[in-house]
Amino acid sequence: MSGSIRVLVCGGGIAGNAVALQLLRAGIDTTVVERAPAARPGGQAVDLRGPSRKVAERMGLLPGIRRRQLDERGMVFIDDRGRQLARMPAEMFGGAGLVAEIEITRGDLNEVLLDEIAALPAESGALDYRYGDWAEAFDQDADAVRVRFAAGAEAEFDLVIGADGLHSATRAQVFGPHEQFTEYLGAYIGFFTIPTPPRTMLETGWVGVYPVPGSTVAVRPDADPATSMAIISTRIPADDALRGDTAAQQRLIRDRLAGHGWVVPAILDTMAEAPDFYFDEVSRVRMPSWSRGRVVLLGDAAYCGSPMTGMGTALALIGAYLLAGEIAETPTDSARAFDRYEELLRPLVTEVQKGTEVSVRMRHPDTRRGVAFALILMRVLVSRPLSPLRALLTRLIGAQAEYPLPEYSSAAVR
Ligand SMILES: Cc1cc2nc3c(=O)[nH]c(=O)nc-3n(C[C@H](O)[C@H](O)[C@H](O)COP(=O)(O)OP(=O)(O)OC[C@H]3O[C@@H](n4cnc5c(N)ncnc54)[C@H](O)[C@@H]3O)c2cc1C
Repeated sequence: MSGSIRVLVCGGGIAGNAVALQLLRAGIDTTVVERAPAARPGGQAVDLRGPSRKVAERMGLLPGIRRRQLDERGMVFIDDRGRQLARMPAEMFGGAGLVAEIEITRGDLNEVLLDEIAALPAESGALDYRYGDWAEAFDQDADAVRVRFAAGAEAEFDLVIGADGLHSATRAQVFGPHEQFTEYLGAYIGFFTIPTPPRTMLETGWVGVYPVPGSTVAVRPDADPATSMAIISTRIPADDALRGDTAAQQRLIRDRLAGHGWVVPAILDTMAEAPDFYFDEVSRVRMPSWSRGRVVLLGDAAYCGSPMTGMGTALALIGAYLLAGEIAETPTDSARAFDRYEELLRPLVTEVQKGTEVSVRMRHPDTRRGVAFALILMRVLVSRPLSPLRALLTRLIGAQAEYPLPEYSSAAVR
């Protein structure tokens, strides 16, 4: 089929690289433009369970994932004095709990995808991968999409996939302004690598969670025991001045966490040197349709549920698998392929996006009393196997388990 259609993928994150891999496997010529000058490292652990684990398996990613898999054994909630108040081992909830069987950092998963792309056999579609470039203008008609790139080139494609994340420029240019589709959920979240603090009071493989009024601090083990991932979320009104201003973002984190205990001082001391400091708003994207003509959106660009769902990367992978599979089934009927992709994925997205604003509020009690109450709830959750709270959590986490995933012959790993 090589040469029959040409696809442009804007964005080389998990969604973009996963869809490119599957399109190439189906023999479709694919161009990827990634705005960053090189593959972006970093990101916290992502959980692969249920359908996303199945997708990873069908895409042949599991051997690479297993080599980089994190050793996560559970989650422990910590109070102001560093006491462990509630422990949630990975086996709790029959393995469907907050720590999944497969945990890998976002950056490592991206590397697995790029390795798979690099190892594709010669009969795959032709790949043109460009870092440091992006699409500046799209002009589409019934036959093609003409694209002008920031680096100066112009080219024509049969289809364009916008996989350029929460702040998608493809979405803004083709579908409408950000405000029309994004909804701020009341918090910001940051992730960055730190030297493992000497006194984390954590056993190997345990994620520590320390709630303080208005914010939550978590420390997650890395594959390298010398480093850990700090995860800081804080509930504040939206502030456009924070966008792209790392100094202002770190100032905000310092202000919000000043005077708190556990490993907070060590985190604040090393934050400025983090090689992969990432900070963004917690927002949700909701769109009436994910495609317009020959342009379709994928991943956070189309349906970001926010990091609070813990499902962003899983939905990016599942969406990539479905979109590439449907395009390969009907390469010359993009309208049908895009409709099928949306029809198959939208029910899962709707389920995952439900109630995120409540989860943001519950995770960030404003007062000391609220924090103490949240910790008591966690203790009840872990100590009472039959509590309604545990039943609710199991239902929410297990909601995706039943998702029926179609099989595509084009997706076969050669
Ligand atoms: C560096 C980084 C770290 C992250 N860390 C976490 C984390 O720790 N926890 C978490 O829950 N989520 C994190 N995320 C978000 C998470 O990766 C996504 O929610 C999820 O994987 C869905 O991925 P995506 O590919 O749709 O979007 P993203 O992962 O946001 O990928 C979009 C890609 O498009 C690129 N891009 C942006 N604009 C353009 C453009 N105009 N043209 C071309 N390329 C463009 C970006 O550089 C990025 O590589 C992170 C994202 C990034 C980029």
